[in-house]
Amino acid sequence: MPSEAHTGPGRTATLPLPPMTWNAWGDPALAKPLTDDIRALLEQLLGVTPQDAPAPTADEVRLRPSALPADDLAALAAIVGAQHVSAGDADRLPRAGGKSTPDLLRRRSRDEQDAPDAVVLPGTEEEIAAVLALCSERRIAVVPFGGGTSVVGGLDPVRGDFTAVLSLDLRRLDALLHLDEVSGEATLGAGLTGPQAEELLAARGFELGHYPQSFRFATIGGFAATRSSGQDSAGHGRFDDMVRGLRVVTPAGVLDLGRGPASAAGPDLRQLFIGSEGTLGVITAVRLRVHPTPAVRRYEAWSFPDFATGAAALRAVEQQGTGPTVLRLSDETETGVNLAMTAKIGGGQVTSGCLAVTVFEGTAEQTGARHRLTREVMLANGGTSLGEEPARAWEHGRFDAPYLRDSLLDCGALCETLETATAWSNLDRLKGEVTAALQTALQAGGSTSLVMCHISHVYATGASLYFTVLGAQKGDPIEQWAAAKAAAGDAIMAAGGTITHHHAVGTDHRPWMPQEIGDLGAAVLRAVKAAVDPAGILNPGKLIP
Ligand SMILES: Cc1cc2nc3c(=O)[nH]c(=O)nc-3n(C[C@H](O)[C@H](O)[C@H](O)COP(=O)(O)OP(=O)(O)OC[C@H]3O[C@@H](n4cnc5c(N)ncnc54)[C@H](O)[C@@H]3O)c2cc1C
Repeated sequence: MPSEAHTGPGRTATLPLPPMTWNAWGDPALAKPLTDDIRALLEQLLGVTPQDAPAPTADEVRLRPSALPADDLAALAAIVGAQHVSAGDADRLPRAGGKSTPDLLRRRSRDEQDAPDAVVLPGTEEEIAAVLALCSERRIAVVPFGGGTSVVGGLDPVRGDFTAVLSLDLRRLDALLHLDEVSGEATLGAGLTGPQAEELLAARGFELGHYPQSFRFATIGGFAATRSSGQDSAGHGRFDDMVRGLRVVTPAGVLDLGRGPASAAGPDLRQLFIGSEGTLGVITAVRLRVHPTPAVRRYEAWSFPDFATGAAALRAVEQQGTGPTVLRLSDETETGVNLAMTAKIGGGQVTSGCLAVTVFEGTAEQTGARHRLTREVMLANGGTSLGEEPARAWEHGRFDAPYLRDSLLDCGALCETLETATAWSNLDRLKGEVTAALQTALQAGGSTSLVMCHISHVYATGASLYFTVLGAQKGDPIEQWAAAKAAAGDAIMAAGGTITHHHAVGTDHRPWMPQEIGDLGAAVLRAVKAAVDPAGILNPGKLIP
């Protein structure tokens, strides 16, 4: 019986590491240190001063010892193979949480840090089913782990009523399982990252087209589990729009959902599992709509005198259906800060007002027509063209901003994002009230702040608002942000927004779920959970109030 699964405080990982570094975003080689000019600007504008205590290295981190008994570890090793299980610190630490600002601040602590008690890497659905059966029987909580990019506490090692918690890392489910070129459908393993999936599809002449800012590291299963939305959502829709079918392993059995391109066979059960955040089952494969790799991409950036004018233009474009693939608008503060940080955006100068970006893709004829129609609407609604370059520059750097957050945290700044969505008619009110709530809460804690906002996703009836908050760290920055986040969440609900448009619920948004779906809605979710996960082992403390 294989029972030599790695255990103990050893500092050498025995399992393949998640692709991201344990205490920061992404690949350390791509870090973006701040220039002296930017540091001086932060000190002058926001009173940001360097923190004195250096963060611990991985070797210095004190991790809560694993509570998983040796016989449980041996039983897991018997299911997936000893080489795919570890209770070693070096394997547990990189799966200790996600990549929100509080997560990154926690990783900097010299106090004992929490982490899952063991990590398991299953390779098949049968192994997942066996792990879930074992954990149900032995009362061990399970946190499915995709790319590790959650920003809502979705990966926190919450034990609930259980004595131990496992991280179930799904990276080995990494195959393109089927491509139906005639129908334009691909079945992808849940553990494929965004780039891995696109590479496999590109080799066959297809593209999925889902590009969230976390694209480089997040996974197909994670996108489905969180109802992710990518930056090309104006053209390709949200991830949930792309899903045609999915397979889910639950402790009560396997579900294979989604027949035909559409169905009237009762409520759409796929929608129960899309967005279920690992609380109802483990998504193992997703069947997705794909399209031939676009031949052409065209770009144009725009300037608007103010946010309201720009928002009205985006609404007109979306409601008239002129077909951009990317359509987004920064407010005055975000445009100004980007300008100050980069001195100029690409080749086109933006001196004031609000920057909008449009991108088009398809055949040469399609992009030409979509571009021309969109242009007409933007011009008719007060836009001034800035040409191609600022839009190309946005695309070039679109996955890099999270690296800047690490440097900002290093130098004593507080930096975090949050998002919501509402109807077009309510957009201004929601934006104003969330901005005021954030500023007031941070001010009460002694920090001046900059609250930037952009429209990140558009629909015929409304849009999402994505806020980036920048201030100085004061006192305990985790508590400082918790107060600001609570104020923003209350303001979102009071002003008629949704508590999350695409970041999902996790632990962080769970307190607002009764307001979001009502007590009866929460009871429905609990009833579904009782049916598919009777022992309640899957992601306790997340999503379901
Ligand atoms: C810098 C940054 C930028 C981001 N930008 C965007 C963005 O543009 N758009 C967007 O939508 N989101 C964004 N996010 C949020 C995050 O990337 C998404 O929620 C993403 O979909 C999570 O995928 P993942 O594979 O990393 O999942 P993880 O973070 O590993 O897991 C997320 C949740 O899903 C569960 N889960 C993961 N895989 C499975 C599975 N196979 N079966 C069941 N449950 C599972 C986990 O238990 C957890 O609760 C961003 C995050 C960061 C840090």
